[in-house]
Amino acid sequence: MFENKNDSTTSIGSMGEFGLIDHLTKNFKIKQNSTIKGIGDDAAVISCDSNQELVITTDFLLEGVHFDLSYMPLKHLGYKSIIVNLSDVYAMSAEPTQITVSIAVSNRFPVEALEELYEGIRAAAEIYKVDLIGGDTTSSTTGLLISVTAVGRVNKGEAVYRSGAKENDLLVVTGDLGAAYMGLQVLEREKEVFKVNPNSQPDLEPYSYLVERQLKPEARKDISRLLAELEVKSTAMIDISDGLSSEIIHICKNSKVGCSLYEEKIPLDPQVISACEEFNLDSTTIALSGGEDYELLFTISTDDYPKIKANPHLTVIGHITNEKEGIHLITRGGTKIPMVARGWNALKNEE
Ligand code: ADP
Ligand code: MG
Repeated sequence: MFENKNDSTTSIGSMGEFGLIDHLTKNFKIKQNSTIKGIGDDAAVISCDSNQELVITTDFLLEGVHFDLSYMPLKHLGYKSIIVNLSDVYAMSAEPTQITVSIAVSNRFPVEALEELYEGIRAAAEIYKVDLIGGDTTSSTTGLLISVTAVGRVNKGEAVYRSGAKENDLLVVTGDLGAAYMGLQVLEREKEVFKVNPNSQPDLEPYSYLVERQLKPEARKDISRLLAELEVKSTAMIDISDGLSSEIIHICKNSKVGCSLYEEKIPLDPQVISACEEFNLDSTTIALSGGEDYELLFTISTDDYPKIKANPHLTVIGHITNEKEGIHLITRGGTKIPMVARGWNALKNEE
């Protein structure tokens, strides 16, 4: 929950909608040449380059469904709400340039709480060099709602879709998997401990990487440049928001191919392995179904393998097969298990 360090808080009502928008957005500077008009008119104006294509993506974050304010500081929430959208832009192999942010807030939030949210949004906008060009502000009778839209650009014909994977291509993942989910397990556990004993001081140090991956994820802005430098052209790409298995299935369904994924190849951080032991969870299951890693999953031609094989950011975890062969996990013991989409999903309780 938001806790103000000062005694006095400012109510949203005292500022009025326009005063509030102006107050929250006044520190955002325009950085992109393509932003012709940002906040302040009926619509933003973005220039178009005839050699490029625009990509647009949007995501909703709802309190109680996607985040829990009892352990998610508002500044981190603001940051993460931008990252999840930028990750989708990078997954098209595009560069994000503009964002819009729409919020629905109840009057239990003072202006100071929204200032923190916008601090996080501003930090992400600075680091990823995107302009905040608009949004909408309205009231909510329930929780906090945040909707972010990101705009990006890519040279004509260079966008990478989910549908381009070919038989025999290699399946490659960036970074490591499962840490954000384990960070959530740690935070949920500490929340329960805190309920019983509000004076307890959690020692999160052994879980620092996990908690950071959950509370302050980053998007892989480095990968399209890295692949360009290595002269590797990915054939299909997706970001890992729901867990490896559901993303693999998306690529396979869209590309009309099958896939063999090797359990022993899945990259895991040592903190994920030790936390899984502690929580009595299977690390492969966590990597497959955990979600919120915001890594990129892509396919490349086997011809490109020598160019990527020594790269510490990239791990080959499987290969693409004929559609008839299906989608399988090959376990460490060599058993072939059909893969199912059990990725994290906000609707999972209703299924
Ligand atoms: P309109 O009534 O035309 O929708 P608004 O009063 O909602 O206009 O918004 C005025 C300007 O402020 C617009 O440029 C809009 O995009 C921007 N804006 C509104 N809410 C937000 C917000 N939460 N964050 C950033 N910009 C916002
Ligand atoms: Mg409006």
